[in-house]
Amino acid sequence: MDDARQNDQLGQWDRDSFLHPSTHLGQHARGEAQGRIIRTGEGVYIEDRDGQRWLDGFAGLYCVNVGYGRQEIADAIAKQAQELAYYHAYVGHGTEASITLAKMVTDRAPDHMNKVYFGLSGSDANETNLKLVWYYNNIRGLPRKKKIISRWRGYHGSGLMTGSLTGLPLFHDKFDLPLSPILHTTAPYFYRRDNFEQNEAEFVAQCASDLEEMIEREGADTIAAFWAEPMLGTGGIVPAPTGYWEAIQPILDKHDILLVADEVITGFGRLGTMFGSEHYGMKPDFITIAKGLTSAYAPLSGSIVSDKVWKVLEQGTDENGPLGHGWTYSAHPIGAAAGVANLKLLDELNLVQNAGEVGTYLNRRMKEELADHPHVGEVRGEGMLCAVEFVEDRARRTFYDPSRKIGAKVVAELAKSHVIGRAMPGGDILGFAPPFSLTTDEADRIVEATVKAVNGAGL
Ligand code: PLP
Repeated sequence: MDDARQNDQLGQWDRDSFLHPSTHLGQHARGEAQGRIIRTGEGVYIEDRDGQRWLDGFAGLYCVNVGYGRQEIADAIAKQAQELAYYHAYVGHGTEASITLAKMVTDRAPDHMNKVYFGLSGSDANETNLKLVWYYNNIRGLPRKKKIISRWRGYHGSGLMTGSLTGLPLFHDKFDLPLSPILHTTAPYFYRRDNFEQNEAEFVAQCASDLEEMIEREGADTIAAFWAEPMLGTGGIVPAPTGYWEAIQPILDKHDILLVADEVITGFGRLGTMFGSEHYGMKPDFITIAKGLTSAYAPLSGSIVSDKVWKVLEQGTDENGPLGHGWTYSAHPIGAAAGVANLKLLDELNLVQNAGEVGTYLNRRMKEELADHPHVGEVRGEGMLCAVEFVEDRARRTFYDPSRKIGAKVVAELAKSHVIGRAMPGGDILGFAPPFSLTTDEADRIVEATVKAVNGAGL
């Protein structure tokens, strides 16, 4: 069958059979929405089955950090599949790959964090962390201390508890979420502050006092943990305002509230440091990792726990027997082999440093070209994360009516230049999160295509 006919057939099967995640199901099934069938990838480029090539400015879903087509990782996966495709990690079992990866991860983690549990996705790693937080407080004899505070616009997954932790209505509405032990506090999103008159320091003080008020209202003896990305990702790609973490951390310490840093996006280099916690001076009790752990060459996630938490977990199993938690695929050898090869590549090619340097360049160039545009409210970012937020009236900060779908229109225009960006949920926000191997020439191409797309969308 020739390629064109085969594509027609695949397209039909796709519409007939495939229930896609995060997709307008009806439009897709009726063929009204544009999907793409991707065939291959190399470096920062992907190619679809029609032979069209795209600069992937979002690294898949902020995850193909080392870029596409890395032979070293493909070889490591193939070798592992041949030698030992699977063995479980229950009752103390390990494989060369999973044990090596645990050592590599904890060597790179903050000094006070020395144990890692492996799962498969960011969502299940957050779920593991949540169970461990509850276990921790039960072992400490604090059974009431169970509520979790996350932030509006945080993204922590889309399971029942992790979807509840997420602070975006799209992931709650019609799913009966959030579930009751989860509370949401103010999003650290300076540009969208309620009071446009507030300066950054006043806004940070407000975020801190909103959190303290919530803790006092609920009772600190009922609050177990604060769940946060170092900087907001899916909620808008928003760097933490200056002084935010310095204001939040002491409140958590004062009330004996654990900090879970969700580093599914920022872990392993996206901000130009190994972890976002390091970048912002946070002191987490748990770190959630996924995407960048394997650069998505195979599904693998992790929960890194601090020495303080580990001591209590150890006490718990001494008192109660084995930990009643685990997945069949925990620490899957193929994912672990991909992780080992991926972390080696990050080091050998100096990719974390490149993410910091080229990411800074991308952000600077995007600001130079678009920060003064009459319909751009803000250009912001950190490391290899960059966003452009569109507004109807810049001086008054009036947002577009969501029905106009300005963000989606800009993304569609961008695709005409064969550059992929993402329309973030919850506003007209164009996001970029390219692979760390991006060059300055490729960054220029993203910026040029964005300027063209903004004009092409009639803004
Ligand atoms: N946490 C953060 C910060 C994320 O960005 C994501 C996914 O984008 C998740 C958790 C959920 O990860 P997954 O989609 O692998 O379940």
